[in-house]
Amino acid sequence: MAILPILETPDPRLRQISKPVETFDDALRTLIADMFDTMYDAPGIGLAAIQVGVPQRVLVIDLQEPDPEDAEGKKVIRNPRIFINPVFSEQTEEHSVYQEGCLSVPEQYADVTRPAEITVDWQDEYGKPHRERMTGLMATCIQHEHDHLEGILFIDHLSRLKRDMVLKKLAKARKAA
Ligand code: ZN
Repeated sequence: MAILPILETPDPRLRQISKPVETFDDALRTLIADMFDTMYDAPGIGLAAIQVGVPQRVLVIDLQEPDPEDAEGKKVIRNPRIFINPVFSEQTEEHSVYQEGCLSVPEQYADVTRPAEITVDWQDEYGKPHRERMTGLMATCIQHEHDHLEGILFIDHLSRLKRDMVLKKLAKARKAA
């Protein structure tokens, strides 16, 4: 178990296209455990392997939604999900807008429009295939993470003006830090 350094834009490694996983071994499962440690520590709700410098088609997601039983709204329910070699189909015409952020574009947020629902085929850490219809925040999150496998960042979905604004704010925040 380890917390790995997260690559940040404009690191060119984030622009690589990740390769399919072919071997489902202990090394893969160690990478996944480390990715969860890194994501929870950041903290974030999703992480692609390339964000820790590994160009393989591996995503981890945990939306950590508030526990409805907790009146103060402080507790979250952990639901760690692993997606290897994810493939999308049957996306809806309908779109939804979420304010997105990314551990590789730290502390910057912007509205991104994506298909509201999508069917995902993937393999788990043992190579077993799965299929599920994703909706809501999960649909958005998995599309954001899947973009990383193609070398795409959420800021690429913004207008040039908005993207430049985000990058300027990021540069300013880095200077101040
Ligand atoms: Zn991201």
